[in-house]
Amino acid sequence: MSQVANDLVIAINYTLTNAAGEVLDQSDEGQPMEYLHGAENIIPGLENALTGKTAGDKVQVTIQPEDAYGEHMPEMVQQVPAEMFQGVDQVEPGMAFQSAGPDGEPMMITVSAVEGDMVTIDGNHPLAGQVLNFDVEIAGVREATDDEKQHSHVHGEGCNH
Ligand code: ZN
Repeated sequence: MSQVANDLVIAINYTLTNAAGEVLDQSDEGQPMEYLHGAENIIPGLENALTGKTAGDKVQVTIQPEDAYGEHMPEMVQQVPAEMFQGVDQVEPGMAFQSAGPDGEPMMITVSAVEGDMVTIDGNHPLAGQVLNFDVEIAGVREATDDEKQHSHVHGEGCNH
């Protein structure tokens, strides 16, 4: 049971870099990230690349946007008046806000530019449109608990329900 497959909890050490080689994210030293395989806890391209690998394997994979966070959709970029941001002292590029999407679902919007009284907001995922490079080491594979399978996520510290 050391091979990566659905319904198993996989622990990975990883470094994520963009096409320019800049580190975007990485697991903490000595603290692999755990996820439930086959439950869409991670992006499809990475899940596919890890399927069938074994604990101890190192995997390097380049993932195109369609298998990662999707293409960057220009229609999700809008200009809105700054007065929409009530209660925010100063709206600055890079700020992220929770908003409601077209179907009322929660979505994150990021401020990409501020010009005078107009603010450009972007509802795309910050990594949309980016080619991502993952450098992964599979640190461990374990059976998921029944609870974890039901909830489709890993129950670590801090998950209390
Ligand atoms: Zn849960």
